[in-house]
Amino acid sequence: MDDLTGLMGTEWECAACGEPHRLNVRETIVGSGALMQLPGVVARHSGSRHVAVLSDERTHVAAGRRVLSLLQGAGLQVDSFVLTNPDAEGHGPVCDDTTHAQLSAELPEAPCYIAVGSGVVSDLTKWAAFDRNAPYIAVATAASMNGYASDNVAPTLRGVKTLLHGRGPVAVVGDLDVLREAPHEMTAAGLGDVLAKSVSTVDWHLNRLLFGEFFCPFCAGLIDGIEPIYMGAPEDIGEHTVAGIEALFQALIYTGFAMSIAGTSAPASGGEHLVSHTLDMMALRDGVEHDLHGRQVGVGTILGAALYGEIAAVEEATFVPPEEKATDRAFWGRFTEVVEEKHAGKRERARMAAAKMASAPELWESIRTDLAATVHAPEVVKDCLRRAGAAHRLRDIGVTRERILDVLSHCHEIRERFTVIDLARAVGILPGKAEELVDRWLID
Ligand SMILES: [Zn+2]
Ligand SMILES: [Zn+2]
Repeated sequence: MDDLTGLMGTEWECAACGEPHRLNVRETIVGSGALMQLPGVVARHSGSRHVAVLSDERTHVAAGRRVLSLLQGAGLQVDSFVLTNPDAEGHGPVCDDTTHAQLSAELPEAPCYIAVGSGVVSDLTKWAAFDRNAPYIAVATAASMNGYASDNVAPTLRGVKTLLHGRGPVAVVGDLDVLREAPHEMTAAGLGDVLAKSVSTVDWHLNRLLFGEFFCPFCAGLIDGIEPIYMGAPEDIGEHTVAGIEALFQALIYTGFAMSIAGTSAPASGGEHLVSHTLDMMALRDGVEHDLHGRQVGVGTILGAALYGEIAAVEEATFVPPEEKATDRAFWGRFTEVVEEKHAGKRERARMAAAKMASAPELWESIRTDLAATVHAPEVVKDCLRRAGAAHRLRDIGVTRERILDVLSHCHEIRERFTVIDLARAVGILPGKAEELVDRWLID
């Protein structure tokens, strides 16, 4: 693993892509007992002895109370804000416009904020701290997602999953004693989110080849050094060993770094994420629950890897004319207008990609051998998830065969970014082989 310590909190010119890069995170502390160092972290990075700590009911118990007593014991002035569950069914709070408005009104003002939690608390604190132009520190309670060290906030705005630009924390603290106690489905979700990288970085590179877009090999390769640790011993993640959780958490932090440095979510979010986002939107449409982001992403990554496997095998490609289909209101319901905006951009991209690939036979050869063939085989991804006790079948995430086939027909419509899903459509692998791939990879 590249040691990024020297780059944290700095700006530099990238030798790999030639662009200026910047990393807001100045320090990461990962280890057993890391919480004990929190007073020192605050002293180093906030310049004040007053902090406001945000948690929710669950993370307050997992680590929040200890954080408060540690900071108070060190003589700091500490305000605590615990988000309550929005309903009686025990659902935790969500990161959306409503909760953000509540926080804007009720979160005590402080020169520095501390997020004690995972995805929702981390994102809400990032958002609130950005609004108030104040630094914040992320104290992780689960190795469940890659947003701890990223600049982005991923809220739901008027029902639609959105990406807002914020600013990453000044420091990330991951106490392995806390992370190892997190519910297993959250840890397993974190594994799904890091495995996505195998597909998403290749999707990102694909956009470089097809459209000349920005791509940085340094960012794309940031977690390459850690990958063999968790992929080689996924049982360690299943058993929450120190080594397993540490490797997973470091990989999640570095994935967040990759997004922050690149200034885009592209290094960590490709076609496999479209599968998860579409499942989320279908659940909202139908008023039903959906599974954790990373668990759905893991299943999406198996599909993405299977599609790249098919693509790698196509020596002589025949390019299918891109579809000009209208956005299907019967399917998207109240999301139709939002999706149509993105879908229009995607139609344009698909036309450009088809024209470019058809006019340059060596381009297809390069996509096939330099990109598609480098993606982990679907059996490798699936085996890693299975051995870690993570979701790797449709039934694990509560999705029917019919529903995932719907996802495969529609998920390319929700983003302009070209992905493996679009590439598979361009050469006729989708929709033709959708049923075969689902039956082969996602049933058992
Ligand atoms: Zn670069
Ligand atoms: Zn993700």
